[in-house]
Amino acid sequence: MSDCLFCRIASGDIPAETIYENEQVLAFRDINPQAKAHALIIPKKHLDSLNDLNQTEDGLLAGLLRAAQDVAKALGIDQSGYRLVSNCGPDARQSVHHLHFHVLGGETLSDRMV
Ligand code: AMP
Repeated sequence: MSDCLFCRIASGDIPAETIYENEQVLAFRDINPQAKAHALIIPKKHLDSLNDLNQTEDGLLAGLLRAAQDVAKALGIDQSGYRLVSNCGPDARQSVHHLHFHVLGGETLSDRMV
């Protein structure tokens, strides 16, 4: 989708600091970090949110979760710990409507989940 910010990052149209990439998935640093280490993992193909990931895409879901391990290692936070978050829809305040997981860490995170 040409008007989707993360599709434009995936296509290289808009620059981002890539941390990890494979055929299906791209991970890059969040432009407005909410923790000392904050990356985003996206599928290269457009899906609005987790709601759009159907059973035929279980391989992609596994790939996104597997990428979280690689991103955590690349950020050096796999042993210290990290949080994986996907905001879905208005109550979760999803602001970019292209499925993504936040990887947050590099410090002790808040014990509040909301
Ligand atoms: P969400 O609120 O869960 O939809 O998260 C969207 C995230 O995208 C926010 O944490 C933003 O800081 C991040 N973001 C927005 N634009 C960019 C960009 N150009 N490069 C990297 N991260 C971005």
